[in-house]
Amino acid sequence: LVRLLGPLQGLSNVRIDVMTALVSFERVFEVLDLPSLVQERPDAVALPRSASRLTFDHVSFHYPRADEVSLASLETVARPESADSGQVLTDVSFVAEPGQMVALVGPSGAGKSTITHLVARLYDVSEGQVSVDGHDVRAVTLQSLEDAVGYVTQDAHMFHDTIGANLRYARPGASDEQVWAALEAAQVAELVRHLPDGLDTVVGDRGYRLSGGERQRLAIARLLLKAPSIVVLDEATAHLDSESEAAVQRALDAALRGRTSLVIAHRLSTVRNADLILVVEDGRIVQRGTHAELIATGGLYLDLYRTQFNTQPTEDSWTSA
Ligand code: ATP
Repeated sequence: LVRLLGPLQGLSNVRIDVMTALVSFERVFEVLDLPSLVQERPDAVALPRSASRLTFDHVSFHYPRADEVSLASLETVARPESADSGQVLTDVSFVAEPGQMVALVGPSGAGKSTITHLVARLYDVSEGQVSVDGHDVRAVTLQSLEDAVGYVTQDAHMFHDTIGANLRYARPGASDEQVWAALEAAQVAELVRHLPDGLDTVVGDRGYRLSGGERQRLAIARLLLKAPSIVVLDEATAHLDSESEAAVQRALDAALRGRTSLVIAHRLSTVRNADLILVVEDGRIVQRGTHAELIATGGLYLDLYRTQFNTQPTEDSWTSA
């Protein structure tokens, strides 16, 4: 714990967004000694590890307002400017079937990240229900929910610690073999093998400087080690060189295979391969369907598609969807 607290001490003023970026490090609220915004019910049951059908049922949500947050330590979590702001999500419903990939697209500030925050119950919904395999997330233990859901965010954080320790935050007690298998699948074993201290190489602010693509692949290795049944992924917008991009893509393919995923999509390949695309605008789902269906419908999706990918739908984008 001391090792965890060291690098985290400077983080006590961070907003929830940053904390969610760290969620894959497990029980970050506990580590920061901040009370979680959600409470475990006394009668909470453990969510089965294999649970993987994710349902949003008429979910509406507003971030906790300052007056709803009585604890001084949480003032930084509830943004002051959000005190009089309204609903962030309105009547959001969708189902991600086991193994499916659901992509979220939409303008900045539409509510995509907020939807992903509700999956791991970082906040409670204001109305409606988020459930996994029919279990309302408010009725299951926080630990079992955390075990079931893995996050990979754009800016994969690494603690100032060894690569081995950074990976084992996801699964304490993992053997070296398991760690190496995860590194292999995440396309980053070769790199670690060539570092002078291998798994014992210290990374992070004052350690070995990882490139963005390397950090992402290590974060994916951490996810593979955790082996959650649901993956929430915020795809990187940052430009990676094409070799790194291809390696990250292969790592992600391994990480998402056989898992339910909810992806904030920035890649063309993701929207094309998604089983379901949800177009979010002003906190509502305004369009839904596959890439081919949405291109055919026109409207916001087509506009976003053109701007984001700077491309016209071609014959190829129709057929490969
Ligand atoms: P982007 O693509 O820019 O990341 P997004 O679609 O993910 O945007 P969200 O980050 O979910 O959108 O934001 C939806 C709305 O909720 C915005 O108006 C945002 O300002 C607000 N919001 C986000 N996080 C918080 C927070 N912690 N407290 C209060 N309001 C928030």
